[in-house]
Amino acid sequence: MTSSTFADRAAELDAADPLARHRALFLGTADASVRSYLDGNSLGRPLAVTPGSLTAFVGEQWGGRLIRGWDEGWLELPQQVGDKIGRVALGAAEGQCIVADSTSVLLYKLARAAVAARPERTEIVVDRDNFPTDRFIVEGIARERNLTVRWIDVAYDGGATTVDVAGAVGPQTALVLLSHVAYRSGHIADVEGITRVVHDAGALVLWDLSHSVGSVPAELDAWDVDFAAGCSYKYLNGGPGAPAWAYVAERHLATLDQPIPGWLGSADPFTMGAAYRPADGIRRLVSGTPPIVGMIAMRDMLDLLEDVGMPAVRTKSERLTAFAVEAVEAVLAPHGVVVASPRDPARRGGHITIDHPAFAAMVPDLWADGIIPDYRNPNGIRLGLSPLSTSFAEVAMAIGAIAERLDRAADADR
Ligand SMILES: *Cc1c(COP(=O)(O)O)cnc(C)c1O
Repeated sequence: MTSSTFADRAAELDAADPLARHRALFLGTADASVRSYLDGNSLGRPLAVTPGSLTAFVGEQWGGRLIRGWDEGWLELPQQVGDKIGRVALGAAEGQCIVADSTSVLLYKLARAAVAARPERTEIVVDRDNFPTDRFIVEGIARERNLTVRWIDVAYDGGATTVDVAGAVGPQTALVLLSHVAYRSGHIADVEGITRVVHDAGALVLWDLSHSVGSVPAELDAWDVDFAAGCSYKYLNGGPGAPAWAYVAERHLATLDQPIPGWLGSADPFTMGAAYRPADGIRRLVSGTPPIVGMIAMRDMLDLLEDVGMPAVRTKSERLTAFAVEAVEAVLAPHGVVVASPRDPARRGGHITIDHPAFAAMVPDLWADGIIPDYRNPNGIRLGLSPLSTSFAEVAMAIGAIAERLDRAADADR
């Protein structure tokens, strides 16, 4: 099959897509200079209502209420937005989620709290293909606390399995840190099964949902997860540098001992007291002043996700990646392109990675042409398909553009 056949198929799939109308709710989707935006897994597009939400916040709330705003709702916003993420996207009951810091900082706080809760144990388990910040933070904590990192090796088109984790945990394991959806391969981990294996070993688990929240539904309460964290600027469209979120299971809240005990996580911040006493509940994870402006855009996206519902979002996401894999197999595989993501749509998140030695040099040229995927070492182009803002036509366009360039390179070689 040719790329033009796939362009026709894409047009049919877009016409039949029950969620297609939502694409127009995002800014820039009508901008002809961006022909295909496939990086929503890295930085989601803003919603068209968001400039108005930001202007209203600055004009009415910040400009109008000034410092009174803290008493009129801003101080509660981290928990309110956290609860909303929990309800809409995480399967988490109220009182367990909060918005704060960055994902890196929250991973640090939660991992430190977890190892503090298992003081007699000496090992942290993490996989070698996890996102760099996750690995670096685990290594940093191991240095600080004199612990050992136990590494799991994973397949290049996969991720950590229950069998891998069962082979790595033992009586010395304090904590296991893994990603729900692997940032490179897109592999979806069996969170429930792995969590059970970790608990059977007496250890705690911290899940990173940066690459799943807002595209792959989660059931953190039902899966018995201990701790989780994730980004809000990817599939939650919170904007560059938007604060992250964390989840702490209710059963751990009363004893959670986090390593950055700031005043706004203390029981009664405005007494300006002499000694730190942690707040009851999830607020004890807060250290300093919450980034209120950074929570405005993600609220708009959460409204939309709540309206559409995560099951429908996931169905569209599976269709997008299935179409992408099919087109890659038909149009790019003859050029030697390899799919470095799981073949089973049920084991695959919202993005796929495809490998070819020519890709490192090709990506800048694609960007210059308005085709925007991203590049991941060693040879990977990641196609990030944001379920509510990506069309099938964008997928076909990008794969056609990659095929054209590989064709040209092959002609030049002849
Ligand atoms: C994107 C991502 C991060 C990013 O962390 P920041 O602190 O926001 O830079 C961390 N972990 C994973 C798995 C990610 O995909």
